[in-house]
Amino acid sequence: MKRVIAIDGPAGAGKSTVARRVATALGYLYVDTGAMYRAMTLKVLRCGIDPADRQRVAQLAQETDIALATGPEGAPQVVLDGVDVTAHLREPGVDLAVSQVAAIPEVRERLLEVQRALARRGRVVLEGRDTGTHVAPDADLKVFLTASPEERARRRYRELVAAGHAVTLDQVMEALRQRDRQDMTRTAAPLQRAADAIEIDTTGRTVDAVVEEILRYCRE
Ligand code: C5P
Repeated sequence: MKRVIAIDGPAGAGKSTVARRVATALGYLYVDTGAMYRAMTLKVLRCGIDPADRQRVAQLAQETDIALATGPEGAPQVVLDGVDVTAHLREPGVDLAVSQVAAIPEVRERLLEVQRALARRGRVVLEGRDTGTHVAPDADLKVFLTASPEERARRRYRELVAAGHAVTLDQVMEALRQRDRQDMTRTAAPLQRAADAIEIDTTGRTVDAVVEEILRYCRE
C-alpha cells in the first residue's frame, strides 16, 4: 500500500474533491497545499500589502503561522495565526492574487517546511502544484490530474455561484487562464507533471470513477 500520495494539476482539474475522497477512503491525512498559499494571500490582502511587493510579502511570510487542522465534522481547516480562515480562502480576491504570492520564493520556502513535515509523517495525500516534484519527490504514488480548459472553468464557475459570488463564466475562464499561465511560467517550482506521475484526464468523468482509478493504483 502506498503511504505518500501526491496529486497535482492545474486549477479546476478536480484535485481537491478527488484528493479529499482518496484520503478519506484510505484513512489518510489530506494536505491541501493550495489552501496554505491561499491563506498566505488572504493575510497579504488583509494587511493591505501589494501582492507584487516581494520584499514586504517575504517579510510577512516570516511572521506568519499557517497550519492545518481538522474541524468538528472531520472537514479540513486552515488555521492562519491561530484563526480558522477556511471559509475565506476561495474568495475571488484571493483567486486573483494567489499566483503572484505563490511565486515568491520566500513564501514557498516557508510553506514547504510545513508541507514536508506533514509528508514525512506518512499516510498522507498531498494535493497542489508541486507536491510530486518538490514537496515529496519520493512519494509512493504521483498523479497528475488534467481536464479541458472549458470543463475546468465550468467547474470553478459552479463552485463560485454556489458560494454566492456574482461572476460570469467568461470572467472565470479568463481568471483561470491567467492563473495557469502564472503557475506554469514562474521560476520557483512551476506547475509541471513529475516525470513519474500517472496522468489522468478527468474531462467528462465522474469523481467516483477517478477516485476508484487512483485507489486501484494505491493498492498495487
Ligand atoms: O489548488 P488551488 O487552486 O487552491 O491553488 C491556489 C494557488 O496556489 C495556485 O494557483 C498556485 O498559484 C498556488 N499553489 C502553488 N503550489 C502548490 C499549490 C498551490 O503554487 N503546491
